[in-house]
Amino acid sequence: MKVDALILGGGAAGLWLLDELVRSGFHVVLIENSALGTGQTIATQGIVHGGLKYAITGTQDASVTAIRKMPELWRDCIAGRRLPDLGETRVRSDYCWMWRTASLKSTLGMVGARAGLRSMVEKVAARDRPAALQECPGDVFRLSEQVIDPESFLHALAARHQQRLLRADDDAVEFVTTAPGVVHVVRLTDARRGDHLDLRAKHVILTAGAGNAKLRERVGLGEGVMQRRPLHMVLLRGNLPELYGHCIDGAHTRITATSAVDSCGRRVWQIGGQVAEDGVAMDAPTLIKHTHAELIAVLPGVDLSGVEWSTYRVDRAEIETPRGARPAGPVAKLEGNVITAWPTKLALCPHLAMLVRDLLPRSMTHDPTDLRTLERWARPAIATLPWETERQWVTLQNR
Ligand SMILES: Cc1cc2nc3c(=O)[nH]c(=O)nc-3n(C[C@H](O)[C@H](O)[C@H](O)COP(=O)(O)OP(=O)(O)OC[C@H]3O[C@@H](n4cnc5c(N)ncnc54)[C@H](O)[C@@H]3O)c2cc1C
Repeated sequence: MKVDALILGGGAAGLWLLDELVRSGFHVVLIENSALGTGQTIATQGIVHGGLKYAITGTQDASVTAIRKMPELWRDCIAGRRLPDLGETRVRSDYCWMWRTASLKSTLGMVGARAGLRSMVEKVAARDRPAALQECPGDVFRLSEQVIDPESFLHALAARHQQRLLRADDDAVEFVTTAPGVVHVVRLTDARRGDHLDLRAKHVILTAGAGNAKLRERVGLGEGVMQRRPLHMVLLRGNLPELYGHCIDGAHTRITATSAVDSCGRRVWQIGGQVAEDGVAMDAPTLIKHTHAELIAVLPGVDLSGVEWSTYRVDRAEIETPRGARPAGPVAKLEGNVITAWPTKLALCPHLAMLVRDLLPRSMTHDPTDLRTLERWARPAIATLPWETERQWVTLQNR
């Protein structure tokens, strides 16, 4: 089968890219080795960032301009005004809140964030604050950052291209290379059926998140291009108010909280930000205690009694940076006929897709193989949200 591009990895980056390339007239197929979004996308907090993290650290470069445009682009897709039509994506919240603690550092952080974000941030009157922030000291701001449900987002994108999605284990995929980074054929084998399919792709695009490291080795490319930045996230479930937003403290987001409702109708909070960074060095019980203390400090008045707690670990996979810092933006690296890509943020997937599209020559395959050739191959499912997978939940004693 001849294709313009073969994408490996169906998280947010691979699926958005598939859509972008198909809309641009390319003949493309995507291979996923697990469930779509396994790894980072299903684990995200789903905030369509507009540059808060850049604003509070004072970063001013092209990446800031790019990320500022993302909330509006996503809003248009979700409203069906722009392609890809993401109308089936559940929007958990239309905006995020930004608030501070009583410390001087946090006041300064808020000033920096407001100056950097300018038009995106709006001070809200006390009566318009959400219940969870009623007792916070200082002003509360509303950011025009939507919060999406990653599971329905993955569904919405995948549904547009079912016939182009294949599910294949790593050992069922063989790369035939003629030189490092020059892939001649990708051979898929179904040992059970005694079947195989040779895919001749002009370009092979790796959007496998943390899986990119292994795939790069398999196509003869070097190591040391990817970094992992681990997080230890905290989950709470129970009788909790709805909350989406960031508590700012100096140049840090002390916590980032997002809410969802689980399949049993319980409210779930997902807690990231500084606690998830600091939590990497902690075991789950220590992190839960630490987060409990942090939440009491940053959300005075919120009753946490009786809630259940859990944690999960997940790595952010990105292009390597000199001191392991957050990369400035999305990256697409072309070597031979292989492109390795990382979006850096969920919000930046549209930007990444455009970067990759612009790396491809405009000469499309003239005689595209009928997609019905793929009908006999397995299709990938969608990954499961972190709080729906089996995990241990605990309640805290002596509150
Ligand atoms: C806890 C957490 C919270 C986050 N919150 C936000 C947020 O609120 N807002 C935001 O903008 N960003 C957020 N991010 C960042 C964002 O989630 C990632 O930048 C983005 O999801 C990366 O998408 P991806 O498609 O590159 O990788 P992934 O989502 O990791 O997808 C990789 C895909 O490739 C597949 N794969 C792996 N190996 C292979 C292989 N050998 N062959 C085929 N397929 C393979 C995997 O199964 C998976 O489906 C968060 C990240 C984390 C970890």
